Amino acid sequence: MNRENKNNVKIINKNKINLKLNNIVKMVKRNKNMAKLQAGYLFPEINKRKKEFLQRNPDAKIISLGIGDTTEPLTPHITKALSDAAARLGTDEGYSGYGDEQGLTELREKIASKIYNSKVSGEEVFVSDGAKPDIGRLQLLFGDDAAIALQDPAYPVYIDSSVMLGKTGNYNNKNQFDNIIYMPCTPENDFFPDLEKIGKADIIFFCSPNNPTGAAATKEQLQQLVDYAKKNSSIIIFDAAYSEYINDENLPKTIFEIEGAKEVAIEVNSFSKPIGFTGVRLGWTVVPNELKFDDGSLVREDWNRIMTTIFNGASNISQKGALAALDDKGLQEMRETVSYYLENAKIIRTALQELGYDTYGGDNSPYIWTRIKGMKSWEAFDNMLNKANIVTTPGIGFGQSGEGFLRFSSFGHRKDIEEAVKRLKLHLK
Ligand SMILES: *Cc1c(COP(=O)(O)O)cnc(C)c1O
Repeated sequence: MNRENKNNVKIINKNKINLKLNNIVKMVKRNKNMAKLQAGYLFPEINKRKKEFLQRNPDAKIISLGIGDTTEPLTPHITKALSDAAARLGTDEGYSGYGDEQGLTELREKIASKIYNSKVSGEEVFVSDGAKPDIGRLQLLFGDDAAIALQDPAYPVYIDSSVMLGKTGNYNNKNQFDNIIYMPCTPENDFFPDLEKIGKADIIFFCSPNNPTGAAATKEQLQQLVDYAKKNSSIIIFDAAYSEYINDENLPKTIFEIEGAKEVAIEVNSFSKPIGFTGVRLGWTVVPNELKFDDGSLVREDWNRIMTTIFNGASNISQKGALAALDDKGLQEMRETVSYYLENAKIIRTALQELGYDTYGGDNSPYIWTRIKGMKSWEAFDNMLNKANIVTTPGIGFGQSGEGFLRFSSFGHRKDIEEAVKRLKLHLK
């Protein structure tokens, strides 16, 4: 070893020692809110049980009715718009870089007119990369002292994003977070909370049609929610990701069909579930001009500030796809896609009912919420897996009030749905 190399070795060793010392002396502190989160328990546990089952039964053909992801290919008109948009980006005339953070004006206006029947304006629509990231960013609008209420059971993003931003206490021995208002939604209360009992909530997350219960709130129920928010100066964050699954003309497809909602509600929505954009990514949030904070400032202006700061606009290709989805042809394709999954839902629901299970949802939503009498959720999950080789989602994974239920998803190929139903009838009688 020559001298230079020897010196290098020395320097390297010295650096190693310094690194070690640094490790001991000042490692970065973990965000204490992250430490409060409960381990992402549900889906890893499902996969673990599935894997163990396959080890014991290597030839079993498992069918998953557990997923919340779309399975059918994009439809022709929408696919063409995406590929045309990509091709244009490869030309001198067609190339574009950053767009407006709020989205293409044409798309904002088209969402306002086609989805909201012009009950909201394009200016109030903020296009994004999806409803879930918007839910996370919406948390930035409110202080960490805001009292948060959510449905129990619920889509896990509302609670976990609240925890991450320090809006909850610790996880308690009731398997819930302190300082959160849980609103049980069960068959006993028609999946609508008793708002008299919840005290004062500042922010209310509400999802309809609901994931996981499949319940779609009526006009009267949503009117109660809006009236509560007005009386208590609360803000509703309304998740309408499944609004296109509403068949029943009497059910509201958006919170803005409700009298007074523009003064108290924000709505998030997405093209993920109605046209299979779960991978393409395109959603939006409506923040009405009428919605104000206690100091009189517009919530919409703060939302604009947040989006222009930490979001740089949705993909220009996705936005062209979304524009096509709102054409007459695109809307027709959207209805066909939704009908396909709703037909799946009907097949599953009918089979479960014939077997004597109490089922909810599945008529205006892709999810069927099923009570398995005499079993806890995980027991029912194992039973379904062992007997019929079908994977479902245990209701307890969505909250304490989900105990004893399973969620069946209708996202799947028809032949798999039909096979699953055959097995249910054969093995679960
Ligand atoms: C799937 C789903 C979404 C959609 O989120 P994206 O980020 O737009 O894909 C939002 N809310 C609920 C309740 C969902 O189930």
